[in-house]
Amino acid sequence: MIRRRGTLFVVSAPSGAGKTTLCREIRLRLPDLAYSVSVTTRPPRPGEIDGADFRFVGVSEFQAMLARGEFAEWATVHGNLYGTRARALEDALATGRDVLLDIDTQGAAQLRARYPDAVLIFILAPSVKELEQRLRERRSNMDADIERRLVRAREEIALWRQYDYLIVNRDVKEAMEQLESIILAERCRVVRLGLTLPDLEVRN
Ligand code: 5GP
Repeated sequence: MIRRRGTLFVVSAPSGAGKTTLCREIRLRLPDLAYSVSVTTRPPRPGEIDGADFRFVGVSEFQAMLARGEFAEWATVHGNLYGTRARALEDALATGRDVLLDIDTQGAAQLRARYPDAVLIFILAPSVKELEQRLRERRSNMDADIERRLVRAREEIALWRQYDYLIVNRDVKEAMEQLESIILAERCRVVRLGLTLPDLEVRN
């Protein structure tokens, strides 16, 4: 029997690169992929469901979780606190489930240190100009907020080298295919399969 260990697929991108759409789509295409629901102090946006999109908490609750060592990684992003609960990750990995995480570059670096075999995927818009245009098209963003996100985007883009894969999102369909291919190929890697000699002998 092949005993696969679960793998962490960490996706990061500057806001406006299309990461949210890609993460939503990939979960529909690969329903066996568990999604890591982050804890955040950011208020919910319209349509967001507590417990499904994020777990929304107050700052004091977040700090209590942090003090109890519940986070595998955490970071301040755009002035709000975000964290990934270690327990949820450990449970999924232990049962051989792969986990998709949508987290920022600071969190990705922390997870890389904690789980060296995590797969880090960075998504980029074709250019900073295109990124700015996409941010401006989102009506919910105020000008000051767009500026802040652009400054942060430049900082994040500079960190692309810490990732294993880079997807340039020129076209959503193409980017989706690339993301799916990365996940499917990583799942076939011999080191992840946990094969033992008797398994291979039986198969041959
Ligand atoms: P938003 O609040 O717009 O959904 O997300 C803002 C940023 O926070 C995104 O870059 C997203 O990837 C990141 N983020 C979401 N959850 C987490 C988390 O648990 N940890 C870290 N480090 N970043 C997160």
